[in-house]
Amino acid sequence: MIQTYRKIVQYLFLAVTLLIGVQFSIFVSQLEKGILPTMTRPPGIEAFLPISSLISFKYWLVSGIFNPIHPSGLVIFLVILATAILLKRGFCSWVCPIGLLTEYLNQLHRFIFRKDVRIPRWLDYALRSLKYLLLFFFIWAIIIKMNIRDLDYFIYSPYNMVADIKMLHFFKHISSLALWVLVSLLVLSILIRNFWCRYLCPYGALLGGLSFISIFKIHRNENTCTQCQQCTGTCPADINVHKTTGVISDECHACLKCVAVCPEKDTLYFSTSTRSGILKPLFYAATICLLFMGASIIGRFTGHWQTNISNYEYSFHVAHLDTPFYQHNRGQVPVYNKEAWMMMMQRIKKTKSAWQKGQKLKN
Ligand code: SF4
Ligand code: SF4
Repeated sequence: MIQTYRKIVQYLFLAVTLLIGVQFSIFVSQLEKGILPTMTRPPGIEAFLPISSLISFKYWLVSGIFNPIHPSGLVIFLVILATAILLKRGFCSWVCPIGLLTEYLNQLHRFIFRKDVRIPRWLDYALRSLKYLLLFFFIWAIIIKMNIRDLDYFIYSPYNMVADIKMLHFFKHISSLALWVLVSLLVLSILIRNFWCRYLCPYGALLGGLSFISIFKIHRNENTCTQCQQCTGTCPADINVHKTTGVISDECHACLKCVAVCPEKDTLYFSTSTRSGILKPLFYAATICLLFMGASIIGRFTGHWQTNISNYEYSFHVAHLDTPFYQHNRGQVPVYNKEAWMMMMQRIKKTKSAWQKGQKLKN
């Protein structure tokens, strides 16, 4: 039953993700056809802009301003951090669609090799450090290096304003190199279990690091444990659950598979301590759903959900997407001068009045 709850939550979030994807694609395609969108831009799309959200996070910390360009991205980022502090890396195994895909790829791995192939420990540790290196790179580049002026500049830059549209274009018009990278990752994830999540995902590294301070974790009652080792055998993160009284690992993503498989009643549980504060799987499912729902409701009521970019501005941006304003150069957003920026805002105003006169945007 525990895994049924988890699957229900995973498919629920997958359905929401697909819905957001479809709605956003329609929104952008209407803009590209020169039609002022009839569909609202789904704010949830900003969940797919983690770098922009990390920049928004630092900007919020140093300036106290919750930026209005991608506010829901920051709300979602904060709730994901909260899940790690409360519920370990539950985001990875209960919410993230890539986590769900990884589980199916793991099944394919088992089907091909007839068992779970474990790579040598030394190689596993070496590869696991890769995702932390990527995370440290982002922390260095954003949290350490960017000052308030840089943050301000990036957040209000045309590049950041259309980051979601550019992401959609990246997948719609995928280059052969990017396609090869994706196919390689897919193949590697079949050959090596959890390849992306365990070795490369910087989001996973961030949540894994935070999950060390998680209030809840897996606990084992030594008195009733019979050392059958079924928990360890089923753990997708290769944690020796049967040897510990409390799982302290950045790789535990709270899938609760060990709890589900344990044959001894009340021996393994997700709790605050070895004896108390047990969070039953049904309540885990409800808590993680409520956290996301609650965050989106609070975001809406406090005005931190919808972007303040109007559809007129979007129509302007989409019509000029190929100009240097929206490009980045070797990872750097271009430097804009004030005059160029003012000219652009003037043109946006003209776009708005053209729309109001019923004209279509030409250039
Ligand atoms: S099986 Fe248990 S220990 Fe292993 S990742 Fe899942 S919850 Fe954590
Ligand atoms: S599955 Fe339960 S009984 Fe078996 S080793 Fe793990 S905790 Fe102990």
